[in-house]
Amino acid sequence: MVRKQYAVIGMGRFGSSIAQSLYGMGFEVLAIDSDEHRIQEISDKVTHAVTADSTDEDALRALGLRNFDVVVVAIGQDIQASILTTLILKELGVPMLIVKAQSDLHGKVLNRIGADKVVFPERDMGLRVAHHLISPNILDYIELSPEYSIVEIRATGAMLGSNLREMDIRAKYMCNVMAIKSNNVMNIAPHAEDRIKDGDVLVVVGRNEDLRKFEMAHTE
Ligand code: ATP
Repeated sequence: MVRKQYAVIGMGRFGSSIAQSLYGMGFEVLAIDSDEHRIQEISDKVTHAVTADSTDEDALRALGLRNFDVVVVAIGQDIQASILTTLILKELGVPMLIVKAQSDLHGKVLNRIGADKVVFPERDMGLRVAHHLISPNILDYIELSPEYSIVEIRATGAMLGSNLREMDIRAKYMCNVMAIKSNNVMNIAPHAEDRIKDGDVLVVVGRNEDLRKFEMAHTE
């Protein structure tokens, strides 16, 4: 199997975390930043680390970025540099371009100019923490689209000892239990007769407003 090659541009907190994680998973990672101190810091935690300005088309061409499977642009503050970099990479023909956006408007522009995926790490993490604050039983919250999300909720109260049929989450809240995590074992597509035990975690998918009702009913 050919190992996938990744390039990450911008070694801020987000970019360097992605670069180190991918490298830790055994992938080849090229890290790029215009700040040579940042490059020095990351150099022994990735395959290659290069000081370059990503708004310089010739520099990106010389680095052979079009041959990478995925390029991540993790420049946040300098929106102009983020947009220019994205445009250049798109023109070079990078097959998969993932770009961090600072704001909704920035995200819209990135989508318009051809970013394959736009991510909002601060906004997404804020959303997840907010849901956890509503209730400590809400362990994770993942937005699938503006309308739908997945929530991981720790089983509590009346849930304990009931089975899925008795809980009737689908009829009461229009949400679906996709999986039940029990002692770190994932029961995917659980049966109606599966009984919920103390310590179980339910993975529930639904419309945001329905999930909210479900969450509010389990905030104790
Ligand atoms: P984070 O929140 O992830 O720490 P951030 O959103 O604040 O990052 P910045 O600090 O603006 O993002 O940028 C991240 C990195 O991108 C910085 O190390 C910066 O030097 C680098 N960078 C900015 N512009 C360019 C560019 N044109 N070429 C290469 N690297 C760049």
